[in-house]
Amino acid sequence: MDMPVDWTDHGLGLGFDVESPEGVRFRNDAASPLTEIEIEERVFSRYRAVESCTGITAWGPLTVAIPVLPPPYQGWGGVTYFDGDVMIAIRTDQLGNTIQPTMRHEFVHYVLKRGGLADEDNRNHNSPFFAACGS
Ligand SMILES: [Zn+2]
Repeated sequence: MDMPVDWTDHGLGLGFDVESPEGVRFRNDAASPLTEIEIEERVFSRYRAVESCTGITAWGPLTVAIPVLPPPYQGWGGVTYFDGDVMIAIRTDQLGNTIQPTMRHEFVHYVLKRGGLADEDNRNHNSPFFAACGS
């Protein structure tokens, strides 16, 4: 079944509250806010770590934290959209501590997209960087 797709922002909006020097733009749509320190630890520093680990440097993605991902990804912890505006949606509880790998995993998808990996290989995790840098 074809899903209706908003090719601009995937229905998530393009706004953000804070931006890292690497261009990661972050917005938290959850009820419980993250402190600046938590955003640094759980989002921005993870992006820098993935850039360093993969050796791929790219202007960072719009990353939106929400309680439940939009259809058809409701059960997922995070998703990287390859079409339209390339951006990340991550479930808020995946940012609940500093151990969860979901944010790093989605950042690996993102930098590999920016680095030129074919979308099909990216979706199928056909890169050693997922194991090396995303967990
Ligand atoms: Zn994945």
